[in-house]
Amino acid sequence: MLTAIILSAIAMTLIVALRYLLASGIFAWATQKMRPGLYKGMRPQIRQEIRWSLLSAAIYGVPAGVIAWGWNNHGWTQIYSSVSDYPLWYWPLSIFLYLFAHDTWFYWTHRLMHRPKWFRIAHAVHHASRPPTAWAAMSFHPVEALTGAIVIPLLVFAIPIHVGALALVLTIMTVMGVTNHMGWEVFPCWLVHSRAGYWLITASHHQRHHDEYRCNFGLYFRFWDHLCKTDKGLADASWDQPASQH
Ligand SMILES: [Zn+2]
Ligand SMILES: [Zn+2]
Repeated sequence: MLTAIILSAIAMTLIVALRYLLASGIFAWATQKMRPGLYKGMRPQIRQEIRWSLLSAAIYGVPAGVIAWGWNNHGWTQIYSSVSDYPLWYWPLSIFLYLFAHDTWFYWTHRLMHRPKWFRIAHAVHHASRPPTAWAAMSFHPVEALTGAIVIPLLVFAIPIHVGALALVLTIMTVMGVTNHMGWEVFPCWLVHSRAGYWLITASHHQRHHDEYRCNFGLYFRFWDHLCKTDKGLADASWDQPASQH
């Protein structure tokens, strides 16, 4: 049994690491095409970002591996595989619930991480990326990675979700983690500056957190930032160089 759990943890670590390398690699390549020279002279920083991110992959992989093993072998967890197990409207709702729960957890732990003691111990690693690149998506100190790693594994015990919806949640998590750090806005101007944009976090929002530290703490939604008056809006229009597009 123990061997099976260990093998599952190793497999998940490899999957998380490959997912990171693939997603960050694709968007780093896109950055080269869309914003040539943006990462010029940043190789030493990028090397650090990759090192911390791969360490995070192991920390994310272990609880994910235990869950995958439990789901496969014992039907633990509330993950279901037949769409008809729940009404169809629950499918998108479950995705929203997962994202909102993750966002809530992230907002409050992130604010804690900005307390001087926790910043020194852990969060300084993430902010050492100045400015961050597409490779900084999982660039966290192990202590911070641990706070991120337990969220989804705990949620699958509490909130029912279809396995396909869970895959979508993980995809959104991965893509937003990369694009929010890559140094330019990938979403169209009409969306970022729309009513929906007022509630959604994209690179223009998270960049301001990396510039100013004391605002814009959210992950997917601006709900908690608005409610707690920590939302300072989007980064200055000049942050994304071909500024005419935004
Ligand atoms: Zn960040
Ligand atoms: Zn921070």
